[in-house]
Amino acid sequence: MSDRKNLVRRLCILGATGSIGLSTLDVVRRHPHKFDVVSLSAYSNVDVLFSQCVEFSPESVVMVSEPHAEQLKTLLVKKGLESIIVYSGAAALEEISREVTTDTVMAAIVGASGLMPTMAAVNAGKRVLLANKEALVTSGAIFIEAVKASGAQLIPIDSEHNAIFQCLPIEAQNTPGYCELASNGVSKILLTGSGGPFRTYNIEQLDSVTVEEACAHPNWDMGQKISVDSATMMNKGLELIEAKWLFNVEPEDIKIVLHPQSTIHSMVQYKDGSVLAQMGNPDMRTPIAHALSFPDRIESGVEPLDFFNTPAFEFQSVDFVKYPNLKLAIEACKNGQGACTALNAANEIAVDAFLNKKIKFTDIYKINETSVNKFVSEEVTSIDDVINLDGRVREFTTSLLVNYYREDNHAKADRDNY
Ligand code: NDP
Ligand code: MG
Repeated sequence: MSDRKNLVRRLCILGATGSIGLSTLDVVRRHPHKFDVVSLSAYSNVDVLFSQCVEFSPESVVMVSEPHAEQLKTLLVKKGLESIIVYSGAAALEEISREVTTDTVMAAIVGASGLMPTMAAVNAGKRVLLANKEALVTSGAIFIEAVKASGAQLIPIDSEHNAIFQCLPIEAQNTPGYCELASNGVSKILLTGSGGPFRTYNIEQLDSVTVEEACAHPNWDMGQKISVDSATMMNKGLELIEAKWLFNVEPEDIKIVLHPQSTIHSMVQYKDGSVLAQMGNPDMRTPIAHALSFPDRIESGVEPLDFFNTPAFEFQSVDFVKYPNLKLAIEACKNGQGACTALNAANEIAVDAFLNKKIKFTDIYKINETSVNKFVSEEVTSIDDVINLDGRVREFTTSLLVNYYREDNHAKADRDNY
């Protein structure tokens, strides 16, 4: 047996209380001899982080919100677990990401808040399991240059990107971000998407869809922000930008294919006509298990596909009139880093306003478009530029919201507190 198979991976899980964090710990739980949970993080979810502390005995945790960190400390002392160090504040996320006692960092914070801790892990040369697509969308070439400089190993968690990774030759797997795919015979990346919960709706119906409907994805159980992004198909746009950077290709090299069953998670087309696909039941534990143990394979808890009871595969092209956010993201990808950083920041503000029932679903696009147009030609060449632009776009986008506030009573009642 090789040494690698006996290796215990020492994990930092950023965003441990979220959908990806929970799925990661579910896989880890099945392999107590392969993984050691060194550190965990959350924003404010005391109950879940506390139960994770009890079960996995990490050395340290970060609860970003200070009052919630105090509550967690009290619970840990009562339970006799005061040896677990509890940090608070966003800067502590970077500390645990580069901590020398960890070798693998699961980057599963949602949104651009995940950028700095993920970059800290990259700069420390860790094995970085990347779920936080927003980090790569906001910083693109800067992120990949940092991977190259530190020798960090980057493994995608996003199901499409993990599928593409699995369908690529080893050379490309070992050098994500800077491998020449064309010289490895690749002619196209086929990025699949289900079309989200509104695939069968007509455009007029989209104006009045509710938060609950937008968050009810037909195939995947995910956090709220990515669920709304899937409904607008902004998620597929962010994924196209993510794919550009992860696989060192241009937007023209990526074809989006609607596949409502979410059984094929994406494909790679080669110049000899071969198309390699990765398939499986839609459950994030498969890409997570793959990335956690790569290049070995471990049990994930996901049932294998039953081909005799699997719905027939369908494939469709995308209707960009119905999904204008996807078009906006593809254009941003072509326009450069300023447009992508602005797109992400504007979208985070607009989606948050929709989730808080301040604006309509269809307003997300109008707000995103106005913000991206304003900042499209900004130069972004450093992390400081990213942070600066991200802040300015958030401020501008927030100032736009008032023009879109819903006129129903619920929105009015909440407006003053917003
Ligand atoms: P969730 O909303 O379920 O979880 C988010 C996690 O991040 C929670 O642990 C949350 O803590 C923490 N968090 C939230 N805000 C902050 C902040 N400002 N600072 C630090 N931590 C914060 O998200 P998901 O798990 O769905 O998604 C995580 C990432 O993975 C996203 O980038 C998403 O695009 C990507 N992804 C997710 C998929 C999925 O199936 N869910 C699939 C593919 C990619 P708390 O619980 O305390 O609020
Ligand atoms: Mg995805």
